[in-house]
Amino acid sequence: MTQDKQQGIIIFIAPPGAGKGSISQKCVKELGWEQLSTGNLCRKNIEKGTELGQKIDFAIKSGRLVSDDLIVAMVRDWFLMSQDKKKTILLDGFPRTVPQAMAFKDMIETDFPLTKVLIVQLKVSDEELTKRLTSRLTCSNKNCQEVYSVLESSGMVPQEPMQCDVCQSRLMQRSDDNIDTVRDRLSNYHRHEDDLLDYYSSISLPIVQINVENSLDKVFDQFKSKIGAQVL
Ligand SMILES: [Zn+2]
Repeated sequence: MTQDKQQGIIIFIAPPGAGKGSISQKCVKELGWEQLSTGNLCRKNIEKGTELGQKIDFAIKSGRLVSDDLIVAMVRDWFLMSQDKKKTILLDGFPRTVPQAMAFKDMIETDFPLTKVLIVQLKVSDEELTKRLTSRLTCSNKNCQEVYSVLESSGMVPQEPMQCDVCQSRLMQRSDDNIDTVRDRLSNYHRHEDDLLDYYSSISLPIVQINVENSLDKVFDQFKSKIGAQVL
């Protein structure tokens, strides 16, 4: 196995509501980076009926979690096929846990030794996250699911109150976004965050912190100036 050019990989550590999705979209559109979503990759493997896809499908249908080994094998295959593109990769949905992060580190060290991994931690107060998440509205049309907010500062207010700009369906609050669920999601998130940060520090991976309390444009400028030089 050969890897002849250095490639950058970004792993976000970001609570729900921090704007990871919007930042990723900008990275793809404006910087030409590529996003690797393990959720999408699972679906694609299942659709294509690959050997890994069949194993994943079997795990899901028998009500089990897809094992870390399967996910890592799938990510490894994807990297092998995408190596010649030399783009900076944003990981989405992976690694979620310390065992996954350990397996990922082993994979990189063994097969892709020229890869530079950078951890980007999006920092925002729980108070702000709670405000953002509980203000979120989602299009009730299952095929659309556009997300809006009632907060003016979000820049995501729908043109007509409670109506989707894209498909005119009614907007609703997802049960995930009610205040009690949001509190649970955040406390659950912080437990995982602490474990992952401790692990990444222990293996001396660089961790860059970005304050995301500002508008998306300001956040993205900060992102580019702090990250750009390291991976572009
Ligand atoms: Zn819609």
